[in-house]
Amino acid sequence: MNETVAKQNLLDLDRARLEDFFADTLGEKRYRAHQVMKWIHHRHVTDFNEMTDLGKALRAKLETHAEVRVPQVQFEKPSADGTHKWLLGMDGKNAIEAVFIPDKGRGTLCVSSQVGCALNCQFCSTATQGFNRNLSTAEIIGQVWVAARHLGNVPHKQRKLTNVVMMGMGEPLMNFDNVVRAMSIMRDDLGYGLANKRVTLSTAGMVPMIDRLGEESDVSLAVSLHAPTDELRSELVPLNRKYPIEQLMDACVRYALRKKGESVTFEYTLMKDVNDQPEHARGLLRLMRDFDRRVQMKDAAKVNLIPFNPFPGTRFQRPDEEAIRGFQKLLNNAGMIAPVRRTRGDDIDAACGQLKGQVADRTRRQAEHNKRLQAQAASVPAGGADAAA
Ligand code: SAH
Repeated sequence: MNETVAKQNLLDLDRARLEDFFADTLGEKRYRAHQVMKWIHHRHVTDFNEMTDLGKALRAKLETHAEVRVPQVQFEKPSADGTHKWLLGMDGKNAIEAVFIPDKGRGTLCVSSQVGCALNCQFCSTATQGFNRNLSTAEIIGQVWVAARHLGNVPHKQRKLTNVVMMGMGEPLMNFDNVVRAMSIMRDDLGYGLANKRVTLSTAGMVPMIDRLGEESDVSLAVSLHAPTDELRSELVPLNRKYPIEQLMDACVRYALRKKGESVTFEYTLMKDVNDQPEHARGLLRLMRDFDRRVQMKDAAKVNLIPFNPFPGTRFQRPDEEAIRGFQKLLNNAGMIAPVRRTRGDDIDAACGQLKGQVADRTRRQAEHNKRLQAQAASVPAGGADAAA
């Protein structure tokens, strides 16, 4: 007999939707959904037959109507510093990357939201491959599931995974609904039990969606600023032409005010001779002070300095250590804490902006990038290509 009913992937459903599925589709009590959530997210069980506190009849019903389809691990790479990277197959053609970064007392998972990215930020490796599609809720929370299983994570008991940052491939605010739903599973006690502040969404500055996020969710916001003037920012982050700095800062102020006392993190990737000069630090400082003043809170604006992580074919370079320290010091001297995010997982290309994955439907952008690489290889003598990095 051919079973033609499409099975519902339970990873696509947050608590409210899973309860609805139990009540409406299965004709079961809503609380049964809670048991199933714990099996999936706390114990990493995907086979309904192993969910032993469910009756046999319910298990059979689930078998007919549902499945727990997790991303397929195509490849994984542990790094010498404890960082761990996964290449996860999403549909037979496309793959994305997720990275786990352990640090003193915490474990952060960097999660992707799209296959590729449409924004074309000039200094980001993901951009070179173009955009293919949004990830589903299941594919987003599936990355957390894979990492949690690998780590033996049990919320509130054996807590290995303490933070999630939506800083992998893609622009999370361009996949709003799926990202918000996945983040609600991350924060749910029946999911991964993370505190609101420990889930961070990073955006290149989708202004209208920052407002929507403020209305619908309650997570930490990080904004990729990278430049203090529109002229420079538009060059680095083309989205700035649509939503310039003033509009972006206004949206950040609204977000912070709505959340009362919440800080906003501004990411600043330091690129040699591009945005690493004292005038840039002073401009950044002005923007941050203005932000603090408008939300009436000291240190409401936090700055994360990210030394540029090079990748093949890029025209940018990481500033030398002295320039990075100098930039940081200028901010520090003005009373601003600005940690330098040190590269982790260097040996496995797991750093910010280096995630690539595999995009099947290659867009023109990737073809162009490959052409540039080839031209470069032809013009650079062997061994010289890395000289700039
Ligand atoms: N689309 C989201 C998430 C992107 S990745 C956003 O733009 O915020 C997370 C951070 O890494 C962003 O601040 C991004 O600008 C930064 N980044 C991208 N490429 C980088 C690179 N090669 N080196 C250092 N940081 C990079």
